[in-house]
Amino acid sequence: MPTEKSKPVVAFYGLTCCAGCQLEVLNLEEELLEILGHINLVQFRMGSSAKHPGPYDVCFVEGSVTNEAELAHLKELREKSKVLVALGACATTGGVNALRNGRNIEELKQSVYGDASHVRTLPQIQPLKEYVKVDYELQGCPIAGDEFIEFLTALLTGGEPSEKNYAVCVECRLKENICLMKEGELCLGPITRAGCGARCPSVGFPCEGCWGPVPQANVESEINMFSQKGASFDVVVRKFRMFNASMEDFMKQLKKRLDIEWL
Ligand code: SF4
Ligand code: SF4
Ligand code: SF4
Repeated sequence: MPTEKSKPVVAFYGLTCCAGCQLEVLNLEEELLEILGHINLVQFRMGSSAKHPGPYDVCFVEGSVTNEAELAHLKELREKSKVLVALGACATTGGVNALRNGRNIEELKQSVYGDASHVRTLPQIQPLKEYVKVDYELQGCPIAGDEFIEFLTALLTGGEPSEKNYAVCVECRLKENICLMKEGELCLGPITRAGCGARCPSVGFPCEGCWGPVPQANVESEINMFSQKGASFDVVVRKFRMFNASMEDFMKQLKKRLDIEWL
């Protein structure tokens, strides 16, 4: 067991989000004590009010940058951290926060707040890596506890955390699930990065894409499958945008295929 001084200093921070990814770490009840034996967790507001000014060996950041103050905070965390990890969909793809992208932000603010003159917000949501250097990303809304442990183990033992550059369908088929597409459902599994263990299709729900696009996602063929199943234009656009509205390449392919201006 490492001594207190030799343990890496680890911090968790949250920008705009629901804090569900930090909660997922807290939910690792049985493994948490073991994990704490190997790290010096100095900042984790889900479990402690203790604060630590840094520097940090590893800093996990969940949430999206939605205003200038958060952008300054993210840059400060980057400067203080040897390794910065984007945690969850809000941080890696913009997640549901990016649904505002492409909309008139002033109209949106007004429809939510009425008099919105005091609301300071950026018009677009981008993944954290668009603002600062991100060393690693853990996807998902929320992240998966077992992927978090696998990642931390690799990091602490000097290994390179594995990247799952294949689709959710692979995990789904390995579980011998019956494909929901055959039953008429619209599933984003073929174009979504694996890592969740096919969480949704395994319990009868189609994938909504929260792990982000798999590299070289074949968007065209996915849309063709959706349209063969009678999906309307609206449904296709909503489904693709749900977690990935800020994924430029993904949206470009969708826009090209559907021949639309607004995305
Ligand atoms: S990725 Fe999902 S669960 Fe995680 S903080 Fe964002 S909204 Fe919450
Ligand atoms: S249910 Fe979805 S994830 Fe599973 S094999 Fe079919 S398309 Fe792929
Ligand atoms: S199946 Fe799709 S929507 Fe469900 S957790 Fe996995 S990536 Fe996210």
